Amino acid sequence: MSDGKFRVVIVGAGPVGLYLAHAMERANIDYVVLEQQPNVLNLSGQLLFTWPHTVRLLDQIGLYQAARNRAIPMHYKKRVYGYDGQVTSTNQFWDYAKPHHGYPFLPMPRGELIQVFYMNLKYRDTNVTTGAEVVDIETHSQGVRVHLLNGKVVYGSIVIGADGVHSKVRMVMYNLAGKLSLEHMASNFYGIFGWADTTDLPIEPAVFFESRGTGVVIQCLGTPERLRFVTLKPLPETATGRKKYSRQEMENYAASLADVVVCPGVTFQDVWARVDKNEARMLNQEEGFMSLWHHDRIVLVGDAAHKSTSVNGLGMTCGLHSAAVLANLLQGLVASTGQNPSTDEIDKIFSHYQQERQREVKPIWNSGWSMIRQVTRDSWLSWLWDRYVLPWVDVENFVKGIIPSLFLIRHGNILSYVPFVGEKGAIPWKRWPVAK
Ligand SMILES: Cc1cc2nc3c(=O)[nH]c(=O)nc-3n(C[C@H](O)[C@H](O)[C@H](O)COP(=O)(O)OP(=O)(O)OC[C@H]3O[C@@H](n4cnc5c(N)ncnc54)[C@H](O)[C@@H]3O)c2cc1C
Repeated sequence: MSDGKFRVVIVGAGPVGLYLAHAMERANIDYVVLEQQPNVLNLSGQLLFTWPHTVRLLDQIGLYQAARNRAIPMHYKKRVYGYDGQVTSTNQFWDYAKPHHGYPFLPMPRGELIQVFYMNLKYRDTNVTTGAEVVDIETHSQGVRVHLLNGKVVYGSIVIGADGVHSKVRMVMYNLAGKLSLEHMASNFYGIFGWADTTDLPIEPAVFFESRGTGVVIQCLGTPERLRFVTLKPLPETATGRKKYSRQEMENYAASLADVVVCPGVTFQDVWARVDKNEARMLNQEEGFMSLWHHDRIVLVGDAAHKSTSVNGLGMTCGLHSAAVLANLLQGLVASTGQNPSTDEIDKIFSHYQQERQREVKPIWNSGWSMIRQVTRDSWLSWLWDRYVLPWVDVENFVKGIIPSLFLIRHGNILSYVPFVGEKGAIPWKRWPVAK
């Protein structure tokens, strides 16, 4: 610990780690962010759907306008039968969000969101360290010593592992907890994400297309100039650990989807011919829900704790809301016990955090697990379902998307200690911070 102050060591400068840094600044809690990459800012990356309750979190810390300026317009969702391009259903789910909740969906590239978080951090120059790969952690009765690959040691009161799906913090924590049979993330789906210059293709802009029914799901969203896409299909067999694909493997994978229709009149081959291959990435998309989120003075958040495929666009949202809950508990702890809470006191709030967020995230994780298996089915039954049944049972369309609004969005967390009024819609928020 530095100068006797409670100090949080956040590992990972992804969206969750950087949001936590903002939350710590608002709580007047000392923090440091350790990022293994030489740079926090990297403008490439996948398209991230920022859900309305997550946009509310951004608004609370003053980032709504900056995020809105970078968002890609989106109004319709169209499901497409991948064999012939027939549109099987259309809904305006995204457009219902603002009247319901006061905030829209904001899709934007990960790099843009990272930039919004990072550039608006007050203490970014002093508190965010790059080239800082965490390799080990020691805990003691007063705090933690975090060891970096470069030999340096960082001191703090607790460690928050926001270091993503292959979390080193998780590995160290499980070892310290004596959990020898390591739980792990496993991949059953893999795909490519990237963007293509589609100026010359007849693609309707501001429409989120989801091509399915062919054994692969291809989701994409276009502006008049660019189409951003992600594909997912089942792996031949379950894989664990980190997998790096070569350019040739990516080409082979793309070739296997050549005839799949992405949106009316456009095949994946058309798109692939226009893709920026240097920015496209092929990866396994892991799934996993850890049973242990904390031990001693170490706690996990974001993809380090729970990971779904990207099919429902909720991974980051779940991580940010977990971060908000954790920040509330940390702020309360320091406010009530001072700068040097005991390991027992810390354990109590970590247990509370784990319990609350496992209860909230697990149903979302379960539905993501089912959804990816459903949309990657390859059969005429899938077409029949999408064409004749789904339009009647589509929860996104039912009474203007009321089901996700009532059961998910309105329950969004918020930093309880940051005064904020924010936007409201027809459906009231369940959680409020202190009044402004
Ligand atoms: C194609 C695709 C599309 C997606 N779409 C959506 C979407 O629409 N909406 C949504 O909500 N989510 C989406 N997700 C999921 C979302 O990207 C993740 O849930 C989110 O990025 C997790 O954030 P994180 O901060 O927990 O981890 P990460 O984003 O993985 O960040 C972890 C950080 O930790 C650093 N790190 C790792 N190990 C160490 C170490 N040992 N020491 C120091 N630093 C370390 C990494 O370099 C990285 O910067 C998508 C994912 C993919 C792959």
